[in-house]
Amino acid sequence: MEILRKSRREAREAVLDDYPSACARFSWDEARTWLDGLPGEGGLNIAHEAVDRHATGEDGERTAIRWLGKAGARREIRYRELAELSARFANVLDALDVAHGAGVFLLAGRIPELYLAVLGALKHGAVVTPLFSAFGPEPIATRLTLGEGRVLVTTTSLYRRKVAPIRDRLESLEQVLVVRDDDQPLPEGTRELGPLLEAAPPDYAIPATDPEQPALLHFTSGTTGTPKGALHVHQAVVAHHATARFALDLRAGDVFWCTADPGWVTGTSYGIIAPLSLSATLVVDEAEFDAERWYRILDEEAVSVWYTAPTAVRMMMKGGSERARSRAYPSLRFIASVGEPLNPQAVHWGVEAFGLPIHDNWWQTETGGIMIANFASMDIRPGAMGKPLPGIEAAVMRHLPDGDVERVGHHDEEGELALRVGWPSMFRTYLHEEARYRRCFVGDWYLTGDLARRDPEGYFWFVGRADDMIKSAGHLIGPFEVESALMEHPAVAEVGVIGKPDPVIGEVVKAFVALKPGHAPDETLRRELLGFARKRLGPAVAPKEIEIQASLPRTRSGKIMRRLLKARELGLPEGDTSTLETSR
Ligand code: ATP
Ligand code: MG
Repeated sequence: MEILRKSRREAREAVLDDYPSACARFSWDEARTWLDGLPGEGGLNIAHEAVDRHATGEDGERTAIRWLGKAGARREIRYRELAELSARFANVLDALDVAHGAGVFLLAGRIPELYLAVLGALKHGAVVTPLFSAFGPEPIATRLTLGEGRVLVTTTSLYRRKVAPIRDRLESLEQVLVVRDDDQPLPEGTRELGPLLEAAPPDYAIPATDPEQPALLHFTSGTTGTPKGALHVHQAVVAHHATARFALDLRAGDVFWCTADPGWVTGTSYGIIAPLSLSATLVVDEAEFDAERWYRILDEEAVSVWYTAPTAVRMMMKGGSERARSRAYPSLRFIASVGEPLNPQAVHWGVEAFGLPIHDNWWQTETGGIMIANFASMDIRPGAMGKPLPGIEAAVMRHLPDGDVERVGHHDEEGELALRVGWPSMFRTYLHEEARYRRCFVGDWYLTGDLARRDPEGYFWFVGRADDMIKSAGHLIGPFEVESALMEHPAVAEVGVIGKPDPVIGEVVKAFVALKPGHAPDETLRRELLGFARKRLGPAVAPKEIEIQASLPRTRSGKIMRRLLKARELGLPEGDTSTLETSR
């Protein structure tokens, strides 16, 4: 098997320089001591750890957020200033009599107000939910209703387009605070945030915060069904902080760019909380994906640690690595990816384009933080998700007829990926779905719904979602394996593989493929792809059918939606498509 070796120097210089001994020594109690806690036994509050404790003296002068506006504007917000701005926001909530524990929702692009409001609401003790700003009115209504949002922070234009039409239905909503982004009169039933912030005092004593107090409500991506609301508590910050150190090699002073939107858990856990808790500088780009712009940011903003997703990597790969190589990236030290499987091609492309491999890591909205990762000090096995973080015990489980689970018998046997409960950023419930939450656990184990295997060296390999597994002629086939093989073909940009019901063999493997620019979607290529896959995978696993499509359906966060490919193939209702990105 192919291995990308790290040099001794690379291992020595990494934060997690000695993985086995870190695993042996580490405890979450120790990680808690890396944070300050509120003064005088006041508990633990995310915003204090992320901002206030870095806000005084020289530390306070360090840039917390470097904001890059769509149209070229720049704004540097120092830690001291971020502490003040978030304090003002917390005071605004106080002045409006917003109860501690109330739901505060945010619906905005990546503008500075979003960040100060998230942190200010956490100071105030609210339960915060950032929503992806590209959501339409329906997904907004569903989430605000489910989460009983009392306050919404948005912009005037988003309010007019997406909230005003559903405002009548939002019974829990009491306050709408808007950032003006047009010249029209202030919409009825809203208050302008700017003047409220200016009038509010710039200091705020964070009330005592129980580490178990709810802090964040995040909705899952909706890849496999209706999105679920996962509730997280303030002590999640212990895990955000420790996992960013271990898995992202992140340190004070780093210039860190997490390309996920705060509307997704990655964009909050690692796009706001973790880097600030480490006193790094956070790059925030307001603009949408654009390969050229991203290369420029990585280079000119001297990004040292970059956390992105396979969907972005695939888009960059589409354009070839020459464009990437036209720049130098002198500060870039570490690249990581999360959200979907990262196939070996993408890991190698990192080396080709940036001189650095891309480090895959694995986690879910439910886990609140990174659980399995390829560390800076560790050899990479391209295609593997890596090893569990210190403090995390992961296992591959087999389900027993009596409802119990046990570890699979030998290495490389596939089963459900499970995590032993007890890390601080674990979700505490699915909102209003307590029974569903409880079904995720067997004894001490949280069952993730993903299938994986563990190799003899302890690396975990993603096999597929439990729901996506294909049963064909007695074989159990994981779509990722088939997708990875097709991705090796030079014409292929994206693949989604499903099982299509078949009366004889149960299911046949069918692949949907999108091509790179410059390749014609003709019969010759289709046949070539069938042969290519068959040669790599063998006839039992290779797709029997391949369909070339202009693009594949994806969630708003960029994940390929296999369930939708399947529903369309079978002419079935598409189920919840509120998070679907592509229009039909
Ligand atoms: P839903 O739960 O609503 O169906 P979702 O599972 O996509 O949506 P998220 O919590 O955003 O919602 O995504 C977590 C899932 O993404 C994981 O359970 C896994 O299936 C997939 N995933 C994340 N990282 C990786 C990775 N490195 N390799 C493979 N799959 C990954
Ligand atoms: Mg999920």
